[in-house]
Amino acid sequence: MSDEVRSARTDSVLVEHYCEHKGCKEWGCYGFEESRTVTHWFCSDHQPRLYRGLPRHGEARLAAAEIADMLR
Ligand SMILES: [Zn+2]
Repeated sequence: MSDEVRSARTDSVLVEHYCEHKGCKEWGCYGFEESRTVTHWFCSDHQPRLYRGLPRHGEARLAAAEIADMLR
């Protein structure tokens, strides 16, 4: 492989992935694998409530906030 070919190659593995929720323009920072090749991306608001039986990211914090709201 010549230097010319190598320099033309892109080594970037960064993939743009915004939230897949309809109409949402937030950055999809949470990835949820459907299979080895398919990953769905969502923002913190639209991520699945449960994923493989596990609570979503930040669930404990959100639950605490809901309880705090109820106690007001
Ligand atoms: Zn979203």
